Amino acid sequence: MVAQELSSKVQDAVCRSVEEIGQEMISFLQDLVRIPTVNPPGENYIAGADFIGSKLKQFGYDTHYIAAEGLAEHTPKYPRMNVLGRMEGSTPRPSLHFNGHFDVVPVGDGWTVDPFGAMIRDGKLYGRGVSDQKAGIAASIFAVEAIRRAGVRLLGTVEQSGSVDEESGGFAGVAFLAKQGWIGQDKTDYVIITEPTNVDRVCLGHRGVYWFKVTTHGRIAHGSMPYLGVSAIDHMTDFLHGVTHELKPQLATRQTAVPVEPPGSRYASINVNSVFGGQPEDGTQTPCVADRSGAIFDRRFLSEESFEDVRGEIHAMLADLEAKNPEFKYNIEDLMVVHPVHTDESCDLVQTISGSVEKIFGRKPKLTASPGTYDQKHVVRIASVSQCIAYGPGILAQAHLPDEYCMVEDVIQSAKVMALTAMQLLGAEETSSRAAR
Ligand SMILES: [Zn+2]
Repeated sequence: MVAQELSSKVQDAVCRSVEEIGQEMISFLQDLVRIPTVNPPGENYIAGADFIGSKLKQFGYDTHYIAAEGLAEHTPKYPRMNVLGRMEGSTPRPSLHFNGHFDVVPVGDGWTVDPFGAMIRDGKLYGRGVSDQKAGIAASIFAVEAIRRAGVRLLGTVEQSGSVDEESGGFAGVAFLAKQGWIGQDKTDYVIITEPTNVDRVCLGHRGVYWFKVTTHGRIAHGSMPYLGVSAIDHMTDFLHGVTHELKPQLATRQTAVPVEPPGSRYASINVNSVFGGQPEDGTQTPCVADRSGAIFDRRFLSEESFEDVRGEIHAMLADLEAKNPEFKYNIEDLMVVHPVHTDESCDLVQTISGSVEKIFGRKPKLTASPGTYDQKHVVRIASVSQCIAYGPGILAQAHLPDEYCMVEDVIQSAKVMALTAMQLLGAEETSSRAAR
């Protein structure tokens, strides 16, 4: 698909239109921030979906409300509600899908402003979820509207979805939309996820994740005669020792060629999420040797590492302990596996949005990858849409912090980038003389 060359006159008119619509966009964003769509547990999803959906309808989209029917987390108390708007141009293809998640993480401590007040001070809009990533939702919706108000019509199809549960894995959100065929290679050419990328960066993908649980087994005995039992906690200590003193130093030497930001995340890593074993700390203590211990691990792997090797390395460590100590009994359980994804930087989508960033900021974007995963995995793995990136106005380092904010100016600038990108990818024609001003 060849991106259409647009005259700079039309591009300038659309950028002016974004400026003109700016105030309206920011007040939409403020109202969206004021809906506390906190996840967990998934509060006010209906209100969030309705608010986004009614704006999409007002702007001419066919809207669909998609509840994650059949999933355990979709309950009467906390319904999992997504919204999707579709606006066809003169042809269904090419099609560009903007996705943003409207769930936000819990507020946490340390706020000095109302986390749902959406206050603006010194050009910063404050609120939980403003950077991650309600600002991105506002930018993409108003970017497309600014095109229309400039008297320009998109030829292909544009879709916008507001989805839930990204912060808890996205299964009732983008994964559900992909599984139900709302996003798929039979209808979707390009996906832009409007996660925070600091306005002038484009994120091509993310590292892999392997969560696993190791349980060690011992034999209970009286705590005054521990030599009669076998301590599962001692087994776990042996394994943790290997993780900390052998595996961690090895992982720290494995560096990816992928430009993960921040650069500290360009190395493979492992984190112990939790350790447990023996008697519950809040229960009455009795003198017993612990016959059971467990720990949950979070291994982040690089696109250069195969998952089989990553998993095999852990299994080998455990087998080694077993070989050295016949009483070492364990089992290992996979909890979650996410394979790395990385969009080819030579594809139309990356090239086009890079050109748009350059036009607005005067420099090419930094092409990055994310240390953590986000909904791109579902778009690539379930929907099989390979041209997927993240781009949005939020500040990555602000995500999940107290006093989270986003620069108002960034929302406007990123909307220009999105508008230019949509016009290039989908084709555009002037419908009125307004663009010729
Ligand atoms: Zn996010």
